[in-house]
Amino acid sequence: MAIITPGTRRATFAIGDERAARRVVDLLNEALDQGEAAVAAFERRDGGWDISVHFAELPDETSVRDLVGLAAGGDVAQRITFDTVEAKDWVKASLEDLVPVHAGRFIVHGRHDRARVPANRLGIEIEAALAFGTGHHGTTRGCLLLLGEVLRSRQPRRVLDLGTGTGVLAIATARALRRRVLASDIDPVSVHVARDNARLNGAGHLVKAICAPGFSAPEFARRGPFDLVLANILANPLRQMATPMAAHLAPSALVILSGLLPHQAQGVIASYRARGLVLRRHLVNGGWSSLLMQRA
Ligand code: SAM
Repeated sequence: MAIITPGTRRATFAIGDERAARRVVDLLNEALDQGEAAVAAFERRDGGWDISVHFAELPDETSVRDLVGLAAGGDVAQRITFDTVEAKDWVKASLEDLVPVHAGRFIVHGRHDRARVPANRLGIEIEAALAFGTGHHGTTRGCLLLLGEVLRSRQPRRVLDLGTGTGVLAIATARALRRRVLASDIDPVSVHVARDNARLNGAGHLVKAICAPGFSAPEFARRGPFDLVLANILANPLRQMATPMAAHLAPSALVILSGLLPHQAQGVIASYRARGLVLRRHLVNGGWSSLLMQRA
């Protein structure tokens, strides 16, 4: 999926180190609509970091400075430069800037970094940004880290990635296990993106992507009960899904939940505990909580 515009406006600013860059990217991603802007961080040759934001429409530069000021401080906001990039796919342009994300045994990267994935890592190439999940968000990274931990001791047979976005978690699981994974999303565009990405990563035959809100398709009963469910959504939908989720779990199933802020974690844990799940791990990554829970 690509958005072609006659020329897009880009804001660029320098931002200290990698840690600061990731924090500001997260904050900007939260504040800006995905269809409105694409945010990317990249490392300069001198080791410093830059952030660029590509806008689909001409942005109000004062508002952009205000937003960056909130996320990164007034000094940084004053040093923003705006320019216009020539006509091309602006989402792709922003992805070209993305640095690979290291998450345990996984590396999520763009096409330009394909050749740089070390042999002992599993690379997942994500090229489309109209769905959520380039790996740069703390929630995706948290899920990948927990997934890596799970796969050290288990080989789940029936896997579901609920709220698949770009398909990143489904692809990671399918490739690591060499098993079929069901991926679902409420958003039809994400479903197409996930299918394309699965094919791009040689997992087209392993990842079945379907469009469905929550557990509302017959496919869930057909492909379940699941030994592992990954659900990186938001706290409220996760709480609402606790009952249907529990109904689709095999005995001792593992569930990775993310998309929640640390102060929301206890409420989500309580909802799943009430359906017979216990907390195994609570990871905080980039200001976001990821939970590993298990059906007792
Ligand atoms: N799994 C990807 C990752 O970890 O990067 C994407 C996660 S993104 C935060 C959440 C995804 O869940 C979005 O693609 C959104 O469309 C989808 N979603 C939100 N509510 C949903 C629901 N009720 N049922 C299925 N998918 C949902």
